[in-house]
Amino acid sequence: MIPAPLRLRLDGDALVSNWRFLAATSGPAACGAAVKADGYGLGAQQVVRRLAGAGCRDFFVATWREALALADLGVAVSVLHGVREEDLPAALAAGSARPVLNTVQQVRRWREAGGGACDVMVDTGMNRLGIRPEDVAAGLLDGLTVETLMSHLACADEDVPLNALQRERFAALAGRTAAKRMSLANSAGIALGADYAFDLTRPGIALYGGVQAAAFAAQIRQVVFPQAQLLQRRLVPAGQSVGYNATWTAPADTEVGIVNLGYADGYLRCFSGKGLAWAGDIELPVIGRVSMDLTALDMSGAPHLAEGDWVTIDYSLPQTAARSGLSQYELITGLGARFDRLWE
Ligand SMILES: *Cc1c(COP(=O)(O)O)cnc(C)c1O
Repeated sequence: MIPAPLRLRLDGDALVSNWRFLAATSGPAACGAAVKADGYGLGAQQVVRRLAGAGCRDFFVATWREALALADLGVAVSVLHGVREEDLPAALAAGSARPVLNTVQQVRRWREAGGGACDVMVDTGMNRLGIRPEDVAAGLLDGLTVETLMSHLACADEDVPLNALQRERFAALAGRTAAKRMSLANSAGIALGADYAFDLTRPGIALYGGVQAAAFAAQIRQVVFPQAQLLQRRLVPAGQSVGYNATWTAPADTEVGIVNLGYADGYLRCFSGKGLAWAGDIELPVIGRVSMDLTALDMSGAPHLAEGDWVTIDYSLPQTAARSGLSQYELITGLGARFDRLWE
């Protein structure tokens, strides 16, 4: 295979270190891992192998296709979007994956199909997916083999009364079902404190270097380091412009480098004139418009760089989110298929 001119350097130690930190912070609760969207774009197979090796036992994906892509690993996978009619054959045949039932209809479908162990999502105030607490109280789940009863926090990254309200509504369901475990907290939920952890936590973004809670900033390590290869460098004379629509004009003769990275790779146009790359500790600011496959960098500080050299794109999730206006989730899940993904 031809090596791609752009790559993600993926720090496996940082991934495992983040999980261990979140597991420790979850106290006596078990700590799982959300690996939907192909492990938030890193590659779910590789993420699951590493976290399973570190002791993680519960994995969460969105769809059955995502679950089947992990089937050979033999780990327990919960499918957050539940079970549609189209999913039933795969769901009934799945070895270690089970649905998270979200609606009355999904519960009925799973019962009638003779499905085995399942999880159930209860809506405690987000009004996204999940059955109503009243339906639980009315016996909807009686007789079902429920492994984990879960709910999801709408505003875990904010200090708002809805968090405590959701926690109380969820806690009130303890003992009302045969569920073996209860689970409420995502990454930010873990930071809300021990009474949000219940029996199992479900971090996603923080595993991959996202910082949703200031209290975690010092412990969460960056995992994903995008790098791009220099295709050309040129001296742009003072007064000439660079890129589409000529949005940047050289104030003086300027050394400019063109790297193989663009918005088709998830490096969106909001980085035009705002993004940053690094050659070692030398800053290389993005100049002009980000194109589909190319981005121009001010190479003034790096006269030693030549065609074929690699630069590292500044992609610390919290800072890059602040600079770009994109969320940390968008930043990481948007990194495209053209990157080689290299674990170290
Ligand atoms: C995505 C997801 C998570 C993980 O959320 P993060 O904010 O990435 O930690 C946990 N639970 C559910 C139901 C999810 O959809």
